Amino acid sequence: MANENNKFGETASFIHNYIQEDLKGELNKVHTRFPPEPNGYLHIGHAKSICLNFGLAELYGGKCNLRFDDTNPAKEDMEFVNSIQEDIKWLGFDWEDRLYYASSYFQQMYDYAVILIKKGKAYVCDMSAEEIKNSRGDLRTPGKESPWRNRSVEENLDLFERMKNGEFANGEKTLRAKIDMASPNINMRDPVIYRISHMTHHASGDEWCIYPMYDFAHPVEDAIEGITHSICTLEFEDHRPLYDWVIREIGVFDVIPRQIEFAKLNLTDTIMGKRYLRNLVETKQVDGWDDPRLCTICGIRRRGYTPSSIRNFCEMIGVAKANSVVDVQQLEYCIREDLKNDTPVVMAVLDPIKVTITNYPEGKSELLPVTNHPDNEALGERMVEFGREIYIEREDFMEEPPKKYFRLSPDKEVRLKGAYFIKCTGVKKDENGNITEILATYDPETKGGNCTTRKVKGTIHWVYADKAIDAKVNLYENLVIPDESSDNGYSLNPDSLKVCDAKLEPYLKDVKPMDRFQFMRLGYFIADSKHCTKDELVFNRIVSLKSSFKPAKA
Ligand code: ATP
Ligand code: MG
Repeated sequence: MANENNKFGETASFIHNYIQEDLKGELNKVHTRFPPEPNGYLHIGHAKSICLNFGLAELYGGKCNLRFDDTNPAKEDMEFVNSIQEDIKWLGFDWEDRLYYASSYFQQMYDYAVILIKKGKAYVCDMSAEEIKNSRGDLRTPGKESPWRNRSVEENLDLFERMKNGEFANGEKTLRAKIDMASPNINMRDPVIYRISHMTHHASGDEWCIYPMYDFAHPVEDAIEGITHSICTLEFEDHRPLYDWVIREIGVFDVIPRQIEFAKLNLTDTIMGKRYLRNLVETKQVDGWDDPRLCTICGIRRRGYTPSSIRNFCEMIGVAKANSVVDVQQLEYCIREDLKNDTPVVMAVLDPIKVTITNYPEGKSELLPVTNHPDNEALGERMVEFGREIYIEREDFMEEPPKKYFRLSPDKEVRLKGAYFIKCTGVKKDENGNITEILATYDPETKGGNCTTRKVKGTIHWVYADKAIDAKVNLYENLVIPDESSDNGYSLNPDSLKVCDAKLEPYLKDVKPMDRFQFMRLGYFIADSKHCTKDELVFNRIVSLKSSFKPAKA
């Protein structure tokens, strides 16, 4: 992205204030990072953080690292490490040669913990996790000091080394920072900074059986990499004094990262947490991490969103200090804006009903030119075949229409896009009274859909039955719907996926996965990257055409 397109200047003013203030002082560079934990796939909320961190670095001529925060051996996996890189690249950002793993700092972190012990700022504690929790106190009551708090430096050094050497079982001992059990900030009440976990780590294998806690590891990782501005979400605000304490007490770093918190992205009727997403995937309630209904980056990609639509969305919603919920229609607006000018418009019928044009000669057909985009001549036109039997959308016919129904109904005329006016003369029904076929006549004087003697209000799309090709078309609704009886306030929407047996014009027979089209009157669609083949065409609806959402004027 070019600098002048980087709009974070307009929206993230509180962040700019800090950075500019720092640059007036001793600091002469800006270095940020995006630090995902590789325990799931990235989602749209992460995209906000990625755009912000890489965007700020670019704006200030600085750098942004990609760092895997892989200090927890329990949940991490190479699959996630790979997918995260793929997603960030796809979004259009580049960490160049600055790909780091927190796990590669394990030795340094250990050495820093030893520094704290030597300074009398950390101690080995024998209390269980339960006991530590119960001695923490709460907002009104100070915590109780651990009986092990005053061990000598020598004893602590010895025990910590033996923890590292695997002499103790999981949970038997921890290393705790020695800060203040009466601090009004509970994070400062002698937090655990190392725990024992006899577990194989996806990167460091069995080299370590003690692992640093996030609140110790994270500030150390930032400091090791010379991160100047550690941008994170609001829930870490109360941890900032601890982070600053850790870096100050270790006392070896030139740059003390400045942490700046911003509000997470929340989207209406969307659950973003990796844990929730992971459960949906593992219990096979969705078609993998890239199910187009998910808000994962790969799901959104398979759904048909473009990288620029997501970057524009992140700019549009801005960066704030207060939590809020963004209407998912804003995201949809961004993809429509991105696709509207250069996506070819074709005809597809999702819920087909046959129309026989009884005065059109049997066995005859003709080719009619149809423009590929109403406002973009560069996309040219194509020839569309027309004949006696066509399909139209079942919805585009009503036997007993209300007033102001401008589509097809008995004795009424409608324009077939690019073809002719037709008038309905009757219907055929099955034994249950369902309409199985519509009968119509056409007016040969209205070729191309033009007529000088009379007007029709409705124009509908159609496909020529003899040459139509079959496709599965997936339509989506929100994956979750509000449900007060459920723990998280939501339950799965049983109607989130509707599969249509559609009829398409033969122009679409050679589509490749990820090709995008506008299906006239129906929305923007993409050939599915996972299931669309030469033998079976599968399309996903990216977004419908209509929305009630209007962006605020810039
Ligand atoms: P989740 O809660 O979905 O599991 P996480 O915060 O645990 O996400 P991390 O891998 O730790 O996931 O996140 C990497 C970065 O992305 C962090 O800096 C985090 O603050 C940021 N981030 C995560 N979720 C959002 C969100 N909804 N909006 C903005 N930034 C986010
Ligand atoms: Mg996290």
